[in-house]
Amino acid sequence: MKNVKRVIILGEVMTSTIYALRTFGKSKNEGLVLWLGQIEGYQARITHSLVPPQRSIQSEDGVGYIVTEETLLEISRFLNQKKIRLIAQVHSHPGRAYHSSADDRYAVVTKEGGFSLVVPNFGFGQPDLTTWAVYRLSGPHWLQLDRDQVAKVFTIFNSQERSGRGGTFSAIV
Ligand SMILES: [Zn+2]
Repeated sequence: MKNVKRVIILGEVMTSTIYALRTFGKSKNEGLVLWLGQIEGYQARITHSLVPPQRSIQSEDGVGYIVTEETLLEISRFLNQKKIRLIAQVHSHPGRAYHSSADDRYAVVTKEGGFSLVVPNFGFGQPDLTTWAVYRLSGPHWLQLDRDQVAKVFTIFNSQERSGRGGTFSAIV
C-alpha cells in the first residue's frame, strides 16, 4: 500500500459514492463509504465501493457515524475471501472537509499508505477530489496531501467510454 503512487478510480465508483453520501446528507447525516480494489506495483485501482452498515449520530458535539467491531471483522473477512483490498475510506462532513481527531482515532483504514478522503457539504458539491481533504496514513499520522499531490495521485477512469475507443482517462482538475 505504501508504494502506491497512483490511484485510478472507476467512474461508477465515484458516482455510487456521491449518491451514497448525498443520501446520508439529505437526513443531515455524515456517511462512510469504503473504496476497494487491487494494487499492482505502484498503482491502485478502485473498482468497488462499499457502504458498511453504520449508525449515524447527531449530537451537540456534531454529527458522525459508528461502525461496530463486528462489522469491521466482517469486512476484513469479506476482503480476504474476495482477494480485494481496502484502499481508501471516504466520509462526508456537513461543512468543511478536514480530518478531525475522531477521524484519526477511529479510522477504518489502518494500513500504512492507506488513504482517507473527507468530502465537504455532505457531498453536494462538485465531485472534484481537489476540493476534498485527502490524507494518507504515514506511521501514526494522517498527513494531508496538497491539491497538486491529489491531482497527481488520483485519476477518475470513465469506463462508459471504454468500448470502441479504448478508454479515456480524464484528469480530475
Ligand atoms: Zn470526519
